[in-house]
This record gives sequence, structure tokens and C-alpha cells, in this order.
Amino acid sequence: MNFTETDEQLALRAAVAELGRKYGYDYFTKQARTGGRLTQLWDEAAKLGFIGVNLPEQYGGGGAGLYELAIVLEELAAAGCGLLMMVVSPAICGTIIARFGTDEQKQRWLPKIASGSSIMAFGITEPDAGSNSHKLTTVATRDGDTWVLNGRKIYISGVDEAEAVLIVGRSADAKTGKLRPALFVVPTDTPGFTFEPIEMDIIMPEKQYLLFLDDVRLPADALIGEEGAALLQLFAGLNPERIMAAAMAVGSARYALEKAVGYASERTVWSVPIGAHQGLAHPLAQVKIELELARLMMQKAATLYDAGDDMAAGEAANMAKYAAAEASVRTVDQAIQSLGGSSMTKEFGLAAMLANVRTTRIAPVSREMILNFVAQYSLGLPKSY
Ligand SMILES: Cc1cc2nc3c(=O)[nH]c(=O)nc-3n(C[C@H](O)[C@H](O)[C@H](O)COP(=O)(O)OP(=O)(O)OC[C@H]3O[C@@H](n4cnc5c(N)ncnc54)[C@H](O)[C@@H]3O)c2cc1C
Repeated sequence: MNFTETDEQLALRAAVAELGRKYGYDYFTKQARTGGRLTQLWDEAAKLGFIGVNLPEQYGGGGAGLYELAIVLEELAAAGCGLLMMVVSPAICGTIIARFGTDEQKQRWLPKIASGSSIMAFGITEPDAGSNSHKLTTVATRDGDTWVLNGRKIYISGVDEAEAVLIVGRSADAKTGKLRPALFVVPTDTPGFTFEPIEMDIIMPEKQYLLFLDDVRLPADALIGEEGAALLQLFAGLNPERIMAAAMAVGSARYALEKAVGYASERTVWSVPIGAHQGLAHPLAQVKIELELARLMMQKAATLYDAGDDMAAGEAANMAKYAAAEASVRTVDQAIQSLGGSSMTKEFGLAAMLANVRTTRIAPVSREMILNFVAQYSLGLPKSY
């Protein structure tokens, strides 16, 4: 094991941090509050090769790993301007297509995803199924050379910015008729595919959508990989999703902690700066430790993933997402406490950030579903549901 990042990784970290400083939290919140997008930052990050750093060089990517992609997102979030669609487009969709797509699918989608010129959203959550993906009712039926897809998806991020959505549905086994997971790339301009924004109560530039798939007719090659192998493919994409969600949460919390430490070092209401009082210094030290622990688990998960150990990476990715969500919520909450009334002002924006990191406890997978996974998979306890 090696806890020292390479010169290339450190250089990447520094270069991304520099880009992040150019945009920062003011840019992020301004875009979010005015209904804008983070396109300018996305495009600049893409031009610098950051968006597709994990994808194969052969398709225009950086040829590095998920570890490096997590560095990019962590550093942008630490500057206050994390790009949520990085969790989805290069991490989930790019990974699944790179690992399981046919040559044609790779040629068609990977260069665009890697260059950042196209965004692919990801849709698994359904209104009725929720956390229970065994209950998905988005179903594809075969009609000659085409697939016909019907269903509903909810809370799907960034569909307005996306050229296509990777939809998790189910298809019927030709022999048994049993429904099995299947992944389809659905271009957002396909007839029968419509979407409407959900009014969210969070300050986030990426919007969430309700998707309607009504007799969406797709060519045979819209199915990614092999029929019947989708579960394996799905996990290959969901592990990066969890690692990237952890990276974004850790980065955001680093931003909040830096603000809190800066404020606590200067603000003086008695005879010494408020940070000198242990009542404030200790909780800040405590969240710093929790944050570093979460970061370590995220890095372990990314390292295992890049080493090709999907099983071990899966356990670590779940634990990392859990730890990062908990640590980031506590960190931002403590940062708020440290800033007193100032934390509630638009100038500091920490109240809005709390809602955003709080989301990490729910999405992309909830805290309880991770605890279920650890209870059953890691501890071997019986399942209750
Ligand atoms: C900002 C945002 C962006 C999102 N982006 C996307 C996206 O791009 N693509 C996408 O597919 N989805 C997306 N989601 C959806 C997200 O993944 C789901 O909200 C999440 O998986 C939880 O599903 P649910 O909301 O249906 O909750 P439910 O499944 O209804 O669960 C509600 C509560 O019950 C708990 N619960 C459920 N079952 C159990 C159990 N067996 N044991 C204990 N507790 C349980 C859950 O943990 C949760 O706390 C997004 C959500 C948000 C808020």
C-alpha cells in the first residue's frame, strides 16, 4: 500500500485546484440561483482533459483511473464548484460503455464523453420502485430489430444538458420470460422520450427531471453489452458513482472547513479569536479527522477499483460514500456553527451547502441501503426486506 500520491497525481490536483479557484463558489451559486448552468467551467475543465481523465486514451480520454477522476471532482468541489455531472457522465456511463460496450458503441459515445463535448445522464430511480431496484417497471420488449421501451424515471439529474440518458430497465429473457436488468442508451431527442423538471428545494445548478418513456423505439444496438449481463455492468458503473459522490462530498466539506478555520482564526468577540476556544476548536479538529478518514476510504475504493477488484471495491465504495456523507454533513454543520450569523448570509452560502451535502445521505444510494449492504454482505447478517 502506498499513501503517497505520484508526481502526476499531485500535478493534476494542483492544476484542477487552480481552475477551481478561477470559478469558485460565487460562480457556482450565481449559476444555481439564476437558473444557469456550469457550462463554462465544464468546457474549460474538458479542454484541459480533466473530464475524461479516466477513459481510455484510444477514445480521447486521459488513460488514467477513477482515482484521478476523483481527484478532479474533489478539487473542484474543494474550490466550491463541484461538477455533479462528472459523477454521471464519465464515471458511470463512460465506465460502463468502456468496459462493456461494443466497438461501435465505444466509437460512438466515448470520444464525446471523454472530450466533455457531450454529456450522458443516468436513470435508474423510479417513482414506485425507489431504493428497490428489483421493482423497476421500465421494460424493454423486442420488436424485430428494435427495442420498445416504456416506463417512468424520477430525480434524473442534468437531462436538459445531456445528449442521451443511460436508462436502467428490464428485458424479458427469451426462454423463461423472466425480467432481467438491461441498460439502454436513449438519445434525448428520441420520439416518445419526454422529460419535465421537478421543482427542487436545493440550490444546485444541475436540475432533476421526471422522465416519461412511452413506446420509445430504439435500434438493437441501444442495448449496452450483453442481455442478461446487465447486473454485473450496473455494479461496474455504480461503484464509480459512489466513489465520485464521496469525492464531491469530501471536496465540499473541505471548502466549508477552510472557510470555518479562516473565520475562527480572525473573528474576535472576547479577547482572543473564537478559534482559540476549545468549544469551537475541538469540533473543528474532530470533523477534520472524520473527513480524512472518509477520504482515505474513498481513495482505497478508487485504488481497488482501478486494480480491477470489483468485489472489494464495491464494499469500499459503499463505505466511502457512507463515511463521506456523514463527515461532510457534520463538517458543514460545524462550519455553520463556527460562523454564527454570518453562515446564514448569501455571502458565505454555507446554509445552502448544507442542503447539498445532506443530499449525499440520500443519493445516489441512501445511508440505510448502505447499512443494509454492510450488514448483509460484510457481516453476513440476515436480510429483513
Ligand atoms: C439531487 C438528487 C439527484 C439525483 N440524481 C439522480 C440521477 O441522476 N439518477 C437517478 O437514477 N437517481 C437520482 N436521484 C435519486 C436517488 O438516487 C434516490 O432518491 C435514492 O436512491 C433514494 O430513493 P427514493 O428517493 O425513492 O427513496 P425511498 O426508496 O422511497 O426511501 C425513502 C427512505 O426509506 C429508506 N428505506 C428504503 N428501503 C429501506 C430498507 N429496506 N431499510 C431501511 N431503510 C429503507 C431509505 O433509505 C430512505 O431513507 C437523485 C436524487 C436527488 C435528491
